[in-house]
Amino acid sequence: MQVSIWEKETFFAPQDVIIVGSGFVGLWSAFYLKKNNPRLKITILDQGFIPTGASTRNAGFACFGSLSEVVSDGKTLGTDRMLELVEMRYKGLERIQKHFKDAMIDFELCGGYELYSHQDKTTTAELSYNIDYINSLFKTFTGTKKTYRLIDDSISTFGFGNTKHLVKNNLEGVLHSGKLLTALLHRVQGMGVQVMTSVEVTSIESNSNGVMVHTNQLHEFQTSKLLLCTNAFTRMLLPELDVVPARGQVILTSPIKGLNWSGAFHSDEGYYYFRNLGERVLLGGARNLALENETTTVMETSNFIQQQLEHYLERVVLPEHKNAYTIEHRWAGIMAMGSEKMPLVKNLGDNLFCAVRMSGMGVALAPVVGQEVAKMMMD
Ligand SMILES: Cc1cc2nc3c(=O)[nH]c(=O)nc-3n(C[C@H](O)[C@H](O)[C@H](O)COP(=O)(O)OP(=O)(O)OC[C@H]3O[C@@H](n4cnc5c(N)ncnc54)[C@H](O)[C@@H]3O)c2cc1C
Repeated sequence: MQVSIWEKETFFAPQDVIIVGSGFVGLWSAFYLKKNNPRLKITILDQGFIPTGASTRNAGFACFGSLSEVVSDGKTLGTDRMLELVEMRYKGLERIQKHFKDAMIDFELCGGYELYSHQDKTTTAELSYNIDYINSLFKTFTGTKKTYRLIDDSISTFGFGNTKHLVKNNLEGVLHSGKLLTALLHRVQGMGVQVMTSVEVTSIESNSNGVMVHTNQLHEFQTSKLLLCTNAFTRMLLPELDVVPARGQVILTSPIKGLNWSGAFHSDEGYYYFRNLGERVLLGGARNLALENETTTVMETSNFIQQQLEHYLERVVLPEHKNAYTIEHRWAGIMAMGSEKMPLVKNLGDNLFCAVRMSGMGVALAPVVGQEVAKMMMD
C-alpha cells in the first residue's frame, strides 16, 4: 500500500524524538520532553495494541522499599547508591500525587508493611537496630524521623499466619495502575504526543539525520533522536545491554466478606507482595522459587508459581478464611533486572538513548527516570 501525501506529512513525518515503549517510563519521558520543549515533534511506538510489559500488569504498589530490601541493597549497592535509588522512588511517588488527584488513580496512602516469618533469622534486636539506622538515613528526604516502625502488637488484628514481626512504613500506599497509565497516556496525547500501537520496532539504524526506525508495519520512521523505554524487551534491539527479563505472576481472589485490612504488604525481601483490592486479595511473587524458569519474556503464568502463590495465600494471608474464596484472575507481567539494581539511563551515542531496567518498583521510579532522560536528551 502506498502512503498518501497527507499521511506522509503527518503520521509518518520525520520526528524530533521517537520513544519506543508506552509503559510508565516511555510516557513520563514524553511528558517531561514535551513539558520542557512544547514544540518538539514526538511519537511513541508500542508493539502491543495496549502497553504490554509490566506497567499494566503489576500490583499497583506505591512503594519505595521494604526494610529488609533496603538493608540488603545497602550491602550490595553501597549506602550512597541505595539512598540515591530509594530517594528517586520517593520523589517519583510525590510527582505522581502532584500530577494526578488521588481519586483519579485510586491512590491511597494506606501504609506499606513487611512481614517477617517465624523461619526468618532476624532477631528483634537486629530489626530495631536496622529500623533506627535506616530511619536516620531516610530522614534527609522523607523529613520524618520514623519512616519505619515495628508494630508486632498489630499482627493479630490482620489475622496473618506464620508472622513473627511486622514493620510499617506510613509513607507508602497503593494505586490503580491501569487508571494511572491511561491518565498519563491521555495527558501526553493532550500535549500533542502521537502514540501508535501495534508497531514493533524490529531494528534501528543511525544515519546522517539521526536514526531510521524499522518496524513490522510497512512504514519506517526517521527521527532526530531515539529513546528506548523497552524495559525487559530491550535486548531484542540491543543485545549487548545488561538487561535481563524477570517474569512476575499474580493471582486475585473472589471478594471475601469482611476483608477490612488495607496496605501494601511485602515479605521475603519483596519476593512476595499482596494487598486488598475491593475485598479481594491480590497476591504476587514467588519468583525466587524458580528463578531460571522465570527469566523469560513469555507473558504466561506457570503452574508451579501459581501453586506456590495459592499455598502462601492459604498459609499466611488468609488462614482464617479457608474455603471462603476462589481464584478469579491470574496473570503475568515482565520486569527487567540486571547485574545491578539501578535503572539504566544512558546516552548510547549516535542519537540513541535508553531508560530501562526498572526492577520491581518502576511505578515509583518512572517519573524521575523520565525527567532525567528528557534532560539528558535535550542537553
Ligand atoms: C507482576 C508485577 C508486579 C509488579 N508490581 C509493582 C508494584 O506494585 N509497584 C511498582 O512500582 N512496580 C511494580 N512492578 C514493576 C513495574 O511494573 C515496572 O518496573 C514498570 O512498569 C516498568 O515500566 P517500563 O515503562 O519501563 O516498562 P513496560 O511497562 O514493560 O513497558 C515497555 C513497553 O515497551 C514495549 N516494547 C518493548 N519492545 C518493543 C519494540 N521492539 N517495539 C515496540 N514496543 C516495544 C512493550 O510493549 C511495553 O509496552 C511490577 C511488575 C510486575 C511484572
